[in-house]
Amino acid sequence: MSEVMYTSPAVTGHVRPWDRPFWKPVSGKAGVMLYLVLIHLLAITGLILYPIPGWRIAILTVVPFFLGGLGTTVVYHRTLAHRTLRLNKVVENLLIFWAMFNGSGAPASWVAYHRLHHARTDTPEDISSPRQGGFWWAHLRWLYQSAPANTKKWCPDLVRGGYRFWTYAEVPVLLLSLTFGLALGWRAFFWLGAIRLVYSLHMQCLVNSLTHLGPIRDGETSQNVWWLGPLQLAAWGENWHRNHHFNAGSARLGVQWWQTDIGWYFICALEAVGLAKKVRRPGPRARKSEQAAEDGGSASPEPSPAS
Ligand SMILES: [Zn+2]
Ligand SMILES: [Zn+2]
Repeated sequence: MSEVMYTSPAVTGHVRPWDRPFWKPVSGKAGVMLYLVLIHLLAITGLILYPIPGWRIAILTVVPFFLGGLGTTVVYHRTLAHRTLRLNKVVENLLIFWAMFNGSGAPASWVAYHRLHHARTDTPEDISSPRQGGFWWAHLRWLYQSAPANTKKWCPDLVRGGYRFWTYAEVPVLLLSLTFGLALGWRAFFWLGAIRLVYSLHMQCLVNSLTHLGPIRDGETSQNVWWLGPLQLAAWGENWHRNHHFNAGSARLGVQWWQTDIGWYFICALEAVGLAKKVRRPGPRARKSEQAAEDGGSASPEPSPAS
């Protein structure tokens, strides 16, 4: 497959979204930019006033962070975006709540952006690719400077039924997430709210930016980044992003035994007690592709059931 081609805006006459000034949100996303600025300002203030959280507040901060991380990788990514397993609805909705509490947005928007990313990886239509707009575009700017992904086109399965509720609940859940710590005092307000949300945001954004800064192989830039797992405090498995692009039809992201994938271990535990079904595992072809990817060789990405 050939390298991604660039088309100069001078040739097309169009201004590409990443060519806009970084401080200018796209129409309808001023609120997203305001939210990002607000949580960063609060987090910096909190770190100046209360640099040490103390054991009790540290534990209380990590618990929703951990649950939210599981919600994003197991429910948003592996269950809803790629349909690589079926989850018990109570477990699914509980984890959706925690993913939203961690700032991952509503299921429909997350899944629409993600399916678009897989379908158009590293092309100009891939709105979160550093290959197009550079690191900061892929990391943060696309969140408020790209037009929303069309949910009716990319995830018609998530714009109806109970999933719509979560779209309406997004702002109230985020407000609760940002402020609930105040019940335990100002130190808890900053640590359980803005500091946790900012850390969680960057750990998720690194999956969009960092894991697509690899060399171009097979027309795309995805790479595995082993140290991103520990940096995310609990290695969800999202750092094995190269594996994922080549095994998008599998619920398991860490293919080798040493590739820690807590999301996968959690799915296995749920499956053992009957709360997860129809779990798709990497087949022999996927393992071969993963090895080729590790070796820097050529292998075609495998489409997911939902893409
Ligand atoms: Zn994916
Ligand atoms: Zn990717």
